[in-house]
Amino acid sequence: SNNKHAENTGLGLLKSVPSFGHHSAKPRAALISLVRNSELPGLMQSMRQLEFQWNRKYNYPWIFFNDEPFSDEFKAATQNLTSAKCYYEIVPKEHWSLPDWIDEGRFMNSLEYLGAIGVGKGWMISYRHMCRWNSGFFYKHPRLKDFDWYWRVEPDVHFFCDIDYDVFRFMRDNHIKYGFNMNILDDARSFPSLWSRTRSFINAHPELIHPDADLDWLLDSHNSGDYNNCQFFSNFEIGDLNFFRGEANERYFDWLDRGGGFYYERFGDAPIHTLSVAMFVPKSEIWFFRDIGYQHDINRHCPPQSSHRCSCDATHVDENFYRLVPLESPQKKPDDTCIRQFLGGK
Ligand code: GDP
Ligand code: MN
Repeated sequence: SNNKHAENTGLGLLKSVPSFGHHSAKPRAALISLVRNSELPGLMQSMRQLEFQWNRKYNYPWIFFNDEPFSDEFKAATQNLTSAKCYYEIVPKEHWSLPDWIDEGRFMNSLEYLGAIGVGKGWMISYRHMCRWNSGFFYKHPRLKDFDWYWRVEPDVHFFCDIDYDVFRFMRDNHIKYGFNMNILDDARSFPSLWSRTRSFINAHPELIHPDADLDWLLDSHNSGDYNNCQFFSNFEIGDLNFFRGEANERYFDWLDRGGGFYYERFGDAPIHTLSVAMFVPKSEIWFFRDIGYQHDINRHCPPQSSHRCSCDATHVDENFYRLVPLESPQKKPDDTCIRQFLGGK
């Protein structure tokens, strides 16, 4: 039965068949969510589904983060949806404010400019803090000190399929550092300098690049050498906190942060996590959770009904069952460019 999961989820990139160490201690892992009090109904939707599909069987704690105190209503309603322990944490002010090397005038210009050209939430100050926190601070929160693994959950997302194995044990026992289930092209106007800044990092710190790193799938084949803007859609991610806390990721985050790209541009945590993982982790330690049916906003990933108990519409699934389908967006065709790139042009 161990092999079943390997087939369902496998990329065929692992050298050996994944297995589960059923006898080892439970991983120190948590479901984490940065969320506002006002997003309680959406969070309850996400929690209900993930609890039903998975966590009621495994009881991993939930840790909620907020830049403001959580309301009593928020605490009562969320704790009521799970028998696992819930923690309610405030993000330290110094993790959610403008660093002193940022020029405020230049930041204001960027808010105005990205707002005017219609880059999503480009005008929101809080969105910049959020992207920066998700890039370089979430794993530094004191509450996570005793944890090794996280699964990020957002309000208003959907989990469609029964997940009948311990995802965190799977990650640990197979030495997976990062798991995703969507790989998309996002609006590159939000990070015009990200790639040149990343290249300069690579030149300055070649020793930090993993010898088995594979960046090819992130490079534009038509304009070789440029970033193709593919990114793991980071509202879903299951990861190794110790990877993020490690020297390579930290040095890279600081390099980007010092350049001001979170405020002069709108660097997102999705491309940053993607580039970091691609540079510092061998591809065999990155996992495509194709068995976890999921939806965020208009993007849905739905595995085939034949191999999983899923409640999403199988007609959205192509024969290779990794197609990303933008719903309610007829002008936007399903785009599997990035996942094909990742899987090796198959
Ligand atoms: P999008 O998915 O890129 O459109 O961004 P979202 O608006 O969904 O924000 C990403 C995550 O950060 C979600 O979990 C939000 O609940 C959370 N978030 C965004 N801004 C704030 C904020 O100002 N305060 C708090 N507490 N959470 C936020
Ligand atoms: Mn979102």
